[in-house]
Amino acid sequence: VTRLVLQGIGLFAFIPIVLWLYLGRPLGPGLSAVLGLAVMFGHRFAASPWMARHALARCLWCAREAPLPERLEIRAGGRTWILAACGAEHGARSGRFLTLVWRARAAVGAGIFVPLVLLLAGSFAEAAGRPFIPHAANATIFRMVVALTVAGASVAYLAVREAERPLRCPFPLHNLFLLGIGRTLWVFRIVGAWWLASGASAAARRIAEGA
Ligand SMILES: [Zn+2]
Repeated sequence: VTRLVLQGIGLFAFIPIVLWLYLGRPLGPGLSAVLGLAVMFGHRFAASPWMARHALARCLWCAREAPLPERLEIRAGGRTWILAACGAEHGARSGRFLTLVWRARAAVGAGIFVPLVLLLAGSFAEAAGRPFIPHAANATIFRMVVALTVAGASVAYLAVREAERPLRCPFPLHNLFLLGIGRTLWVFRIVGAWWLASGASAAARRIAEGA
């Protein structure tokens, strides 16, 4: 395990921390949501420069460090990034995944941001004393929709035969760079399966209670 791997994991860890603030609400509905938003928007100021510093030091797909013969030119966040891959295979996989996300950007964006806005709106409304949705139901909707979106994208890219140039990333690219896209997709699949299973069992319980 190298220093870059540990730093990448450390920076990635802010994502589950934000989710814990939004879903677990350890500081109550209002303060947890505010803190989660602050961490979410502040994260890029650490993660994006870190990607810039190490852009050519690790494979975008597997996060291996050297040798990195492939170069990937990616448009993201209003600039062009030059990242690297350990070979043609991982360069192609990175390109195919980014192509899928770009083509499906409206669906992927809606699948993440609509449930996120609903989750935060529910927490803020509750904090203001005007709840409109129970948090447990809201959290289940969030987990199910986000899980379907990210786990879906993690397998749907396999249907993309070839990357479309220029490569573009409509979402924060550094979030994919921290662990490497390959491992990030495994996080999506494993957490996605867990969230779908727990959401389905919560829904089944609710139906059983209602019956
Ligand atoms: Zn690689």
